[in-house]
Amino acid sequence: MPTRVNFTGSISSVSTVFTFLQLTFVCLMLIISADLNAKTIKIGLRAHFGVEKSMQQWKKTADYLSEKIPGHKFVMVPLVGLPELMSEAEKGYFDFVLTNPSSYVEMELGLGASAILTLRNKRQGKAYTNFGSVIFTRKNNSEINLISDLKGKKIVAVAKAAFGGWRVALREMLSEGFDPYTQAKHVSFSGGIQQDVVNIVRLGNADAGVVRTDMLERMAAAGQIKLDEFKIINAKNIKNFPFLLSTELYPEWPFIKMKHASTELSTKVALALLTMPAEHPAAITGKYIGWTVPEDYRPVHSLMQQLKVRPYEHYKEHPLEHFFEDYLIHTIVAVVVLISFTFLMFYIFAINRQLVATKYEQDKLMQELEERVIERTYDLNEAKQFAEKANEAKTQFLSNMSHEFRTPMNAILGFAQLLKYDVANKDLELAEDNVNEILYAGRHLLELVNEVLDLAKIETGKYEINLQPITLAREINDVLSLLKVLAEKNEITINTKFDESDETVISADLRSLRQSLINIITNAIKYNHVKGEINITMDSLNDGYCRVNISDSGDGIAEDALAKIFEPFERVTNRTDIEGTGVGLSITKVLVEIMGGKISVESVLGKGSVFSLYFKLADENQKQNTIQ
Ligand code: ADP
Repeated sequence: MPTRVNFTGSISSVSTVFTFLQLTFVCLMLIISADLNAKTIKIGLRAHFGVEKSMQQWKKTADYLSEKIPGHKFVMVPLVGLPELMSEAEKGYFDFVLTNPSSYVEMELGLGASAILTLRNKRQGKAYTNFGSVIFTRKNNSEINLISDLKGKKIVAVAKAAFGGWRVALREMLSEGFDPYTQAKHVSFSGGIQQDVVNIVRLGNADAGVVRTDMLERMAAAGQIKLDEFKIINAKNIKNFPFLLSTELYPEWPFIKMKHASTELSTKVALALLTMPAEHPAAITGKYIGWTVPEDYRPVHSLMQQLKVRPYEHYKEHPLEHFFEDYLIHTIVAVVVLISFTFLMFYIFAINRQLVATKYEQDKLMQELEERVIERTYDLNEAKQFAEKANEAKTQFLSNMSHEFRTPMNAILGFAQLLKYDVANKDLELAEDNVNEILYAGRHLLELVNEVLDLAKIETGKYEINLQPITLAREINDVLSLLKVLAEKNEITINTKFDESDETVISADLRSLRQSLINIITNAIKYNHVKGEINITMDSLNDGYCRVNISDSGDGIAEDALAKIFEPFERVTNRTDIEGTGVGLSITKVLVEIMGGKISVESVLGKGSVFSLYFKLADENQKQNTIQ
């Protein structure tokens, strides 16, 4: 099982004390050297060669800036550990920082820092703005030739967070399919400076090591090592990059402006550094040629994203791919809420529709009910009025009938008493007269009773009729021959204004037709004058009716009495000598109407009356069975 040793953890408390001492030392330096009127500008520095060497390397650059930008005293604040550098940066201790690219990315994303320049590093007398990592082993280690040979081997680097010193190499190893953290025997971090890593490998305490490019060449130039002692793993040749290399190249260290540093000062700093001559003592001791505009640091971001190191420890390469994984509960809750809400909406919508439909039905029913109530109320009112009228008519009828019956009854009783008296006096002549009066009154009474019975029969629906085709002219002539004696007795001339053989056929009940004609013609004779005249006409009308007009030259009827004559027992004549019951016309009216016809009258008082009877003409089928 491969194991991993982390030196960083073991020296963390020592490192904190060490950082404190460094800062105290720098502050003392600041106090001693500071121009009391000048504003101190602190440049944080990643001291990967150690504090002393780094100060030697960069102090002149700070002095150069102090000289170029009056009123400001620039001082370098070197810190060996990247976590300490980051921690002080977070506290806002620095105005500018000079550090490796991954440390810069952390400050850019976490603290809003920005690169204002990139270092043009001097290597072998030339300027380079790129660097990478070197993975190496001892020359005589025949077991390790490729990255994959590192499986089960001990690997050493300076710090887990070192950029060129570890992360660039780590990315290369991963892209070659080798994960040192799981496949190496162990990975250790020396802490301190990168030269230590080279020495650890050289002495055989680790099988392979990682340093930034150019480190081996520098140590060789300084006589600390010989290059032929080492073998480079995954060696790469990149044009115009003459150093030993195992990985891709990344932009050199940036000069970083912290968020709170003013733009004006930052511009001055950038300008001063950009215009620094290559032969300036600051450049020479700083081992660089100069500075250039910031390089593209996106490859550094991409590396850190791939390695998932701070500030990209939670970075998702395909955020959506992990979305449901990360937000599974939230997604389920959201979907459930959404579905519930949708169902609720549909449910409310359906209920609403149902309610609207129910309300519509209710309104409709209410409206129908109201209409029915209005109709019923109207019908009831009509019925009530009709009943009241019928009741009135009945009362009137009874009162008229009693009167009509009382008259002949009184006559009978009166003449019977006289008869008794005549019999006692043995006056037979008078007795006969009185008997005749009794007979006359009795016959009248009988006639009354018959007519009332007829009327009652008709009104109770017990009067049966049989509609049949009847040749009207023939019927009228038959009735006239019956009434001939009465007409002659009253010296009345009857003129028929139609052809005797007229073949107009009507639909009627024979008995009712005869009864109606007899009643009307009898009245025309009765209420006429001696030597009076009656004219009878017959016309077929276009509306399917045949009209029979019976006009007389008699008394006529007063206009206000015309409406009454069709009511039972209504006699409107002043002439007491004319016999009658007052029921004939009312019976006639009902009979004519039962047969589907009608009756009307026009009259002028003193000149005569015209009664019109309308009968339905028979249709062709009925005509076949005409009564001849
Ligand atoms: P009545 O038995 O009295 O004739 P009707 O019912 O036949 O009864 O007629 C009702 C009343 O109408 C008569 O009493 C009479 O006053 C009047 N009347 C009917 N026909 C004529 C007519 N042709 N001329 C004048 N009055 C008439």
